[in-house]
Amino acid sequence: MITRSELIVQMKAQMSEQISAQTIGDFSSWQEQLANTVNSPEQLLSMMGLSQELLPAALQASNHFALRVPHSYVHRMEYGNPDDPLLKQVLPLGAECDEVEGFGLDPLAEQTQNPVDGVIHKYHGRMLLIVGGACAVNCRFCFRRHFPYQDNRLDRESWSRAMDYIRSDSTIKEVILSGGDPLATSDRRLQKLALELNGIPHVETLRIHSRLPVVIPERITDEMIGWLTGHRIKPVMVIHANHANEIDDAVADAMNKLRQAGVTLLNQSVLLRGINDSVSALTELSNVLFNAGVLPYYLHVLDPVKGAAHFDVPDATARELIRGVMAECPGYLVPKLVREIPGKPGKTWIN
Ligand SMILES: *Cc1c(COP(=O)(O)O)cnc(C)c1O
Ligand code: SF4
Repeated sequence: MITRSELIVQMKAQMSEQISAQTIGDFSSWQEQLANTVNSPEQLLSMMGLSQELLPAALQASNHFALRVPHSYVHRMEYGNPDDPLLKQVLPLGAECDEVEGFGLDPLAEQTQNPVDGVIHKYHGRMLLIVGGACAVNCRFCFRRHFPYQDNRLDRESWSRAMDYIRSDSTIKEVILSGGDPLATSDRRLQKLALELNGIPHVETLRIHSRLPVVIPERITDEMIGWLTGHRIKPVMVIHANHANEIDDAVADAMNKLRQAGVTLLNQSVLLRGINDSVSALTELSNVLFNAGVLPYYLHVLDPVKGAAHFDVPDATARELIRGVMAECPGYLVPKLVREIPGKPGKTWIN
């Protein structure tokens, strides 16, 4: 029998014959991987060995929200499978262009909770800092797919205004770096931010919500762990994985490094029709996460954002799925089923 690591070595050797080394995830730095994502539907379909029949619709939908996916994420998909749960998260479909009642441009009314540029202060005791608008991957179901990031970039001036805002409000106990993807920003910038926050006594926790540890696990470098840990502020990382197939060995290694450095690791998923809307998919995700040292935190129902209605799972089905997971897993592997309601100071539990 061949071991898993031997198999990986063999596969890598085969792949490197076909594709130049720098296009394969684990041979290049995270910055290179971030800069060299797959951006054309045509290329994605051909990498997956899928019919170009899907192309016209994909091109049309990508006019509204571009396709973007790292090579290493594509390599985790099953070649030739149009229903692959990772592919479905990134491939633009014609259905995105449908107008569906109740699905709008700013589903969470965040654009009215934006006291200073770069700050979203809608939760009690915690505050989101929009570090940058870039993401490593464009998820088709993204609730911020229409967010005006260009007006919310933290330049030098808005940075210092955001810091003043945090300093002046001692109810802010936790600062959550958000985006876009906060880890798409350089470590130099993030380190500066972490040090500055560390100097504000009422800020106790620094939390990062990012999909980068999942889509480009090489992002978890020693340098990154260096600025995140070892200060007064407690570090929390919430990764965003939606399917067990996303957690490969490289992701598990990255999680292990973070955990050893003392970072609390949680996962937040979105319940997505056709991707993870079964008891078996959710149970497997919880188990795979736990094996990687990550606890399931939230299972979020879809925010009603325009272009994502085809991913929606009705509440009644969602409740039934969670009951199914509860019957199969210990309580600590059951994520909280939640929804975000505009204007509420926290998530709303769906019981
Ligand atoms: C819900 C949410 C948060 C904050 O939620 P908590 O209830 O404080 O855990 C931060 N970032 C994102 C992307 C969220 O969806
Ligand atoms: S990584 Fe997060 S913010 Fe970026 S597109 Fe995906 S869901 Fe949206």
